[in-house]
Amino acid sequence: MVATDAETARRRRLRRRLRWWYRDAGRDLPWRHSRDPWAVLVSETMLQQTQAARVAARYPAFLARFPPPAAMAAATPADVVVEWAGLGYNRRAVSLHATATALVERHGGAVPRDVAALTALPGVGPYTARAVRAFSFDAPAAPVDTNVARVLARLVAGAACSRSQAQRLADELAPRYAPGEWASALMELGATVCTARRPACRSCPVVGDCAWAATPSGDDPAAASAHRARPQAAFAGSDRQARGRLVAALQRGPVAQARLAQAAGVADTTRLERLVARLIADGLAERRDGELRLPGR
Ligand code: SF4
Repeated sequence: MVATDAETARRRRLRRRLRWWYRDAGRDLPWRHSRDPWAVLVSETMLQQTQAARVAARYPAFLARFPPPAAMAAATPADVVVEWAGLGYNRRAVSLHATATALVERHGGAVPRDVAALTALPGVGPYTARAVRAFSFDAPAAPVDTNVARVLARLVAGAACSRSQAQRLADELAPRYAPGEWASALMELGATVCTARRPACRSCPVVGDCAWAATPSGDDPAAASAHRARPQAAFAGSDRQARGRLVAALQRGPVAQARLAQAAGVADTTRLERLVARLIADGLAERRDGELRLPGR
């Protein structure tokens, strides 16, 4: 899309105001203290499915245990799963170990800055690759997560966006100067002000230039956008809960076959067997000597 003069001026103002606001109001989060690409890759992997507060509590110790990719590659996947305790969605720990191993084998233990090389790594998708480029190398890249897509739909488009439209808008807006800071500012606005349920438009630093705020009676553009957060099924009693319990038990040590039902909180043997089979298929467990355990433990 070719921007008019007025639109170009609006975008310039947005960039300037949002940057100032972020420098003043951005949260002090542990991963914002480092531009080391491995540290960024680890934090972005954690933040994909875990709330920032929980990541902040676990991230420093995790990174201290595996400071460069080589340290993780030299450990076993089970070691990484144990350190991952408390973060949930444990398959990411196995995937991160595969990423570290590929970094050592293909790149001498360094994290590449090129999107194609990054996305060729196991477990690294386009979002993470762009985040590493922007936050570590301050290279032109516009990572679009759910928060950023919501802000773009409301603030810039004033209309629902498909995934490709949101990415195109983000690419158009990304400045040449300090694209990493800009990406952080957009994410911060989505996480703390332009939230999914109750956007705090009255205290928003860019309300004067917001496309949706100019037409407040219109439907929320983010509600019909492709990136919107889907409501999750109830956690209590779910397979996700039972699986989490099982992995938490394995993180403490092997579990005898006879104790699996109790550890998972699942009495139905067919369901329990299905859960165990899925853990094994995901590389999170193996059966040995009548026990279920983390692989290699
Ligand atoms: S004015 Fe409201 S809708 Fe627009 S970006 Fe700010 S918080 Fe979001």
